[in-house]
Amino acid sequence: MNEEAELLRERGEPVIHLGIGEPKNKAPINAILNSVAKLNTGDIKYSPTDGIPSLKKAIIRYTEENYDKVVDPENIIVTSGAKQAIYNILYALLNPQDEVIILAPYWVSYPEITRMVYGSPVFVTPEDGGLRPRMTDITEAVSSSTKAIIVNSPNNPSGLVFKEEFIKEIVEFCEKKQIYLIMDDIYHKLVFDGKKAVSCYEFAQGDINESRVISVNGISKLYGMTGFRIGWAIAPSRLVRIMTNIQAQTTSCASVILQAAAEGALTGLQSIVENLRLTIQNNRDIIMQELRSFNGVKTTEPDGTFYCFPDFRAYEPDSVKLSEFLLKKALVVTVPGKEFGMEGRLRLSFSGSVNDLVEGVARMKWALDPSSPNEIYIGDKKIIRDWL
Ligand code: PMP
Repeated sequence: MNEEAELLRERGEPVIHLGIGEPKNKAPINAILNSVAKLNTGDIKYSPTDGIPSLKKAIIRYTEENYDKVVDPENIIVTSGAKQAIYNILYALLNPQDEVIILAPYWVSYPEITRMVYGSPVFVTPEDGGLRPRMTDITEAVSSSTKAIIVNSPNNPSGLVFKEEFIKEIVEFCEKKQIYLIMDDIYHKLVFDGKKAVSCYEFAQGDINESRVISVNGISKLYGMTGFRIGWAIAPSRLVRIMTNIQAQTTSCASVILQAAAEGALTGLQSIVENLRLTIQNNRDIIMQELRSFNGVKTTEPDGTFYCFPDFRAYEPDSVKLSEFLLKKALVVTVPGKEFGMEGRLRLSFSGSVNDLVEGVARMKWALDPSSPNEIYIGDKKIIRDWL
């Protein structure tokens, strides 16, 4: 779909992209200055495979400030994006056929990475038809082959922050059953309305090196630095050592220039994250307002991230068909729910401009809802809807 949208754009068509998973802001100045300073030394070499010590120090401080958890450098591996952290974790943990519980709706890469390392994804979809995972559904899916459960809150694609009670239950369950709990916290500070994403460390018992809890984080989303490709995992030290061996034979280390940028972001002005959060919260309010007046579309208000995941079954149950239709007729890019393991929905990103959000939803209404005006301007072309 992205390729098709790109082709249309190249042809000069006024495509609106509600599919993008990254904020629009420029990289924080401190990140740029720190990486330029490193580049200027001309001393650009390999770094220790698990990350440069000064970045690890910044991650330790970040973890203490944001999670109230003190960890050692041996508990941290710096990776080329959170994605590589998740890959390293699953590669380190899984034997062929081991099962990983993935909660639908889920980020598309979890099942793909699990399969790449010969594991077996086990999907758990809330029995009540909602978007919140339920412990009863999870415990039913656990078998003697379950090695890990992945939890992503705030969640891509639903935008929901999972309740404290759920996080407590799942941490306690995993520790009791000796199952690894992988907390993907990549959006953990992009939370709205004064809410807070609850940290797994509030409930994890005992020493981190004996624990089953692993957290994944990075600079991509909170600092709008997707292109810098730096993330990290915090895990028991023996697991970090295995992940380091894996990384040593795949990428050697994350680039020192980009690690310097990440250190700059983590140690610079943190108002950048707050400003981004406020902009995105405002965007969330705008897209929700537009969606509320969309007949038949049901949306749960996101608590965080920059995604919402409305239910379009009133118009079309097949999300791929619907997404293709919207691209063709309305020049709006959306991501089909099917890719996140939940049909009948579309993921809409509100990380873009307010104009795009308003016009994007207006075009979708025009294409689908017979009660909307049947003429619309797309770019400078007046188009008449002739299919309803
Ligand atoms: N986890 C989730 C839930 C994501 O949405 C993304 C990015 N789309 C990632 C991890 C990967 O982040 P990174 O850019 O740090 O690899």
